[in-house]
Parts: sequence; structure tokens; C-alpha cells
Amino acid sequence: MSAETLKIDKASGLGATSGTALKALMARACAVRLAHWGHTVTYSRKVFVPLTNMCRDTCTYCSFVKTPDDPAANYMTPEQVLATARQGEAAGCKELLFSLGERPELRYPEAAAALEKLGYATTNEYLRAMCALVLAKTTLLPHVNAGTLTDAEIDMLKPVSASMGMMLETVSRRLTRKGMPHHACPDKTPVQRLRTLERAGQRGVPFTTGLLIGIGETWAERVESLAAINAAHARHGHVQEVIIQNFQQKPGIGMADHPEPSLNDMLRTLAVARLMLAPEISLQAPPNLSVRHAEYLKAGMNDWGGISPVTVDFINPDHAWPQIDELARATANAGLQLQERLTIYPDFLKRPDRFMDPSLTARIKDMARPDGLARVQCLGAST
Ligand code: SF4
Repeated sequence: MSAETLKIDKASGLGATSGTALKALMARACAVRLAHWGHTVTYSRKVFVPLTNMCRDTCTYCSFVKTPDDPAANYMTPEQVLATARQGEAAGCKELLFSLGERPELRYPEAAAALEKLGYATTNEYLRAMCALVLAKTTLLPHVNAGTLTDAEIDMLKPVSASMGMMLETVSRRLTRKGMPHHACPDKTPVQRLRTLERAGQRGVPFTTGLLIGIGETWAERVESLAAINAAHARHGHVQEVIIQNFQQKPGIGMADHPEPSLNDMLRTLAVARLMLAPEISLQAPPNLSVRHAEYLKAGMNDWGGISPVTVDFINPDHAWPQIDELARATANAGLQLQERLTIYPDFLKRPDRFMDPSLTARIKDMARPDGLARVQCLGAST
């Protein structure tokens, strides 16, 4: 890790930075980006597969989750998974992102019954089978976003996924109290999420994590969350990217009236994240959650995350993904260049023994050009 990364005590004092001081902070963050990432801003062309929208947790900001009494609650069938995957493949996607609720079968008999009908005892076993199906039948690389995982589950999923992810969101235990967004959410206890982050490192998984901004956490808790991610990465070198995602109001959620984070709050968080995290950790701000592309680029981020040319983002269906060529234009206007990456970042391709399952190594390397980015670059909505 760079000796110059911003330390937690200094970062804790930056929560009200604004005006000229904020601009200076953002300029420092951009200097770190330039030194490590050059003028390249990346994205991953991916197709989304929401394997199940049932979940045993009840985060009050979530609009994805459905309880079994909702007619829209479901598990996708293998046929549906494959049909969506093929649509993505035809549109030039390289990644298939499995997003899903956490362990619904432990809370809802209906979910357990639906899984049994599919022939599986747990959601994560079904997930493994669907990753294997995608690998067998398409050219896509699965990335799994399955939330908290045990050692055995990580071992089960690593041979069938090129990378994994779980938003840490926050290390605040305060937010698990009654009336708070993570109350009665067993998978949102910070210790459980930190354990998964640690296990992924111990088991050599290229890992995506991040913070959810504006759900009631304090600035100090936000800085502590960044420090926890950085510490795990310092131990294991496995954090490939950190997402800084802003809470958004949506009708019907428990937090429908909760204020969204301001632009300045996002900019100072992005800049501080860039300065606190090891420079080799990619800093991502999802473009579907904001129209503030130019400003985010000025705060030091270097990745737009997953962009789908074919499906809506099932986590935030109200926010259409911008067309990829529009994003390329916005990036170029900032003096930067959009490039397509794979779900596994270039640095991790250099250490296949640690970060790739042997069964996937040849496939991943074949999809990468010498610098580790996608060999076939799709830089427009229709290319
Ligand atoms: S764990 Fe994820 S899917 Fe489940 S309720 Fe929370 S945000 Fe929604």
C-alpha cells in the first residue's frame, strides 16, 4: 500500500469539506488516479441475472426484494437464466452478474419448496449450478453477488465464477437497531460482512465490495468502513474494486422519505475513498444512479461498473442505464478514455495461481488482451 494513503484520523476530519477545500481534495484524488490508472476509465459489459428476488433480510432501502406472498416473487428457471445469458452474449457482453437475495430458504418455506422443485437444497447450491450452466453453454464469465458466504460456499463457487462481490455497505452496528435500515437483517450485521470479506481474501477471490452512502451512517462510520476494506486488502490483496453507491429514494420502500446524499457528500466521499484506499483498488461510482458523471470523474473515480446493453438494472429498475456511447462521450469530455474490462481486473490476471481457479484460467486469459483489459472492446451501445 502507498505510504501516502490518507489515514483514518485525518479522513475523519474531512466530513464537512466544501468549496475550495473540496476542489483541492478532489484534485488530490485525481492525481492518485492519474498516477495509478492513467487516463483510462473502465466499464464491464454485462448482463444481469436476478436469480431470486426473495431474501431473508428486510433492508428498508431495498426495492428489489419480494416476499413469497407477492406474485412477482420467484426463482429464475435454468431456461430463463440461459435465455438471458444468450441475449447478453449476442450483445457483446463478457460478464454475467448473478444478483440475488440472501438465503430466502431459511426464512420462507415457499422459497425452500421452490428450490426443492428445482432440485436444490440451498440458493447457493442452485447458484453454483447456474454458474456452471452459463460456463458450459455460453462464452460469459460469471460474477456472483450472493452476499455473505461461508468458507465452504466460497470454495464451492470459486471454480465457477471469475470474481465475487458483496457490498460491505457500512460497519455501523447502530444501523442494526430497531427502526434502523438493517434491523432484523442477519446478513447485515457488520461482523458477518467483514467475515465474508476476510474469507474471500483468505481464499484468493478477486472481490468487489463497497459502501452504501446516505442510509443514516455518520461520516466517521463511513471512514471506518473504508478503513476496514483497506485493512482486509492489505492482508490479502484481493479487493479489486470499491463501489461508492448513493442511496436513492424509491416509492414503496421503508425509507421512501429518507433524504438522499447531496452531490457534495458524494464527491467528498469519492475523493476520500480514493485517498484512503490503496491506489490499485479500482474506485467505482455506478452511472445508473446519478446524472452527475462529469462531477464524479472530477472526484477521482476510474470505473463505471457494469453496464448492460440488454437488460434493465434489476436492483434499480427505475433508473435506465445510460447508453454506452453516451458514457464514452462523457468520459472523453473529461479528457479520459473509456475502455472495456473483464469482471476480473488486469492485476489479478498476473497472479492466476492465487486468484483464478485452474478450470477458468485459459478461458479468462483468452478473453484478455496483453494489458489485461477485454480483448474485444465494445465501446458503443450497438458495437
Ligand atoms: S440483503 Fe440485499 S436483497 Fe436482501 S433485502 Fe437487503 S438489499 Fe435487499
